[in-house]
Amino acid sequence: MSVTSSEKSTVSVNYDSLDSVRLLGMRVDRVDMAMALSCIERFIQERTPRHIVTADASMVVTYNEDPEFAAIADKADLVTPDGAGIIWATRRLGIPVRSKVSGVDLAAKCCALSADKGWRIFFFGAAPGVAEEACARMTARYPEANIVGFRDGYFKPEEESKVVEEIRSTRPDILLVALGIPKQEKFITRNKAALGVPVSIGVGGTLDVFSGTVRRAPVWMQKASLEWLYRLASNPKKISKVALLPRFALMTLKARKSA
Ligand code: UDP
Repeated sequence: MSVTSSEKSTVSVNYDSLDSVRLLGMRVDRVDMAMALSCIERFIQERTPRHIVTADASMVVTYNEDPEFAAIADKADLVTPDGAGIIWATRRLGIPVRSKVSGVDLAAKCCALSADKGWRIFFFGAAPGVAEEACARMTARYPEANIVGFRDGYFKPEEESKVVEEIRSTRPDILLVALGIPKQEKFITRNKAALGVPVSIGVGGTLDVFSGTVRRAPVWMQKASLEWLYRLASNPKKISKVALLPRFALMTLKARKSA
């Protein structure tokens, strides 16, 4: 598949004046996809290691329960609104965000733009074989994409510095870290300086989707905000994650009452 002209174009956005909302305490930036890509372009030009967080409903619950994670999210360079839950809650609280910018969509756009922009991308995370298959499939889709390396996300803590060196040696511009929330954000924060990668993004189950290991919900279910139901039906092990959603909804409704 070739890159369409809309995939090629990015708008120029003034990163210093991005506005944001606080959703149940957590900062979420009011960006759309074009603005997020424009931030990525700027971060790559500047070459200071930056951390992009893609915030879904489960992450907002984690933010309220894990102080270490909350401190990380507070310092992130960009927090995108990832998912229907965030759109619903921000509307409900009268602080609407611009549009959904999910980790999987953002990562796919980075791959689409990789050749045109000269961006080097590394796929890190998921079960053995998944990142490799994700790389093969994205390369088939975008033959000119510059995916410079991949590795799975299962390693012992004492192997972490070796993993960091493996990634660093390929000199990526964008590192997709798919270790799940909050492991991926903690990994990025611990290793940001040593990695020296301009843009690291925590992308959850993205490599499972790219590799075809997990299918995305049909578009009608995505549009009806039912992606969570599809995920639960296809992998009942995700119940603990999905169980966070009613809590997120209750927290939102309670916050609305007290507003
Ligand atoms: N994962 C990993 N290493 C770990 C734990 C998890 O690479 O130690 C991977 C897991 O295989 C899956 C991803 O992290 O590919 C988490 O996906 P999920 O959809 O659960 O992400 P979240 O909902 O937390 O964003």
